[in-house]
Amino acid sequence: MISIALDGPSGAGKSTVAKAIAKELGYIYVDTGAMYRTIALFTLQNGADPTDEAAVSALLPSLVLEVKYIDGAQRMFLCGEDVSDKIRTNEISMCASKVSALPAVRAFLLDLQRDMAKKNNVIMDGRDIGTVILPNATVKFFMNASDEAKAKRRHEELLAKGENITLEEVKKTMAERDKSDSTRKIAPAVPAPDAIMLDNSESLEKTLETAINIIKEKIQ
Ligand code: C5P
Repeated sequence: MISIALDGPSGAGKSTVAKAIAKELGYIYVDTGAMYRTIALFTLQNGADPTDEAAVSALLPSLVLEVKYIDGAQRMFLCGEDVSDKIRTNEISMCASKVSALPAVRAFLLDLQRDMAKKNNVIMDGRDIGTVILPNATVKFFMNASDEAKAKRRHEELLAKGENITLEEVKKTMAERDKSDSTRKIAPAVPAPDAIMLDNSESLEKTLETAINIIKEKIQ
């Protein structure tokens, strides 16, 4: 099986690039952030403190998380309900970052993610795919972009979803989230030593072309 790891901070444009690569090469796109977001939603719904490992761990046995592909798109199901749209708020982003720092949460998702890559050709986006989940991935990318480009991108996404938030607020919460994601003890969002760096500040088309050329060269 071919597996492409695509890691990087929030707003770098990973999901857009990953979806386009998946379409071009016929792979499955796996958005691992959506899994942490679903656990965050469950934590909030149950009134637990997302930084309290014992409280969040106690919830995990009753959490039924399913990843389904509907018309080619990944959908997240929480205890039977499609929560794919609900998990895209700024509140859930911050909560996902908190629960993702808990070892019990990471252990809960590890096999599910590895299993998907065992059964399918995948492009998997996240923070620790190249370092922890798929250390033997066929190709590893670490994508970044300027702070301005990342905040603008995420702000536009939130506005399009009807969230009332300023660019400054987005910048602030993104910086907080990225700092905590990249400095946490477990599975920090850092490039794997063998990751290829991609800068997605400018043209998405150019980033995509570069990535696809690298993958094609590797799998030939
Ligand atoms: O990618 P996305 O912004 O949807 O991820 C939400 C949060 O989930 C991130 O801020 C990060 O804390 C966490 N995450 C993670 N490891 C991954 C994917 C996401 O810790 N592989």
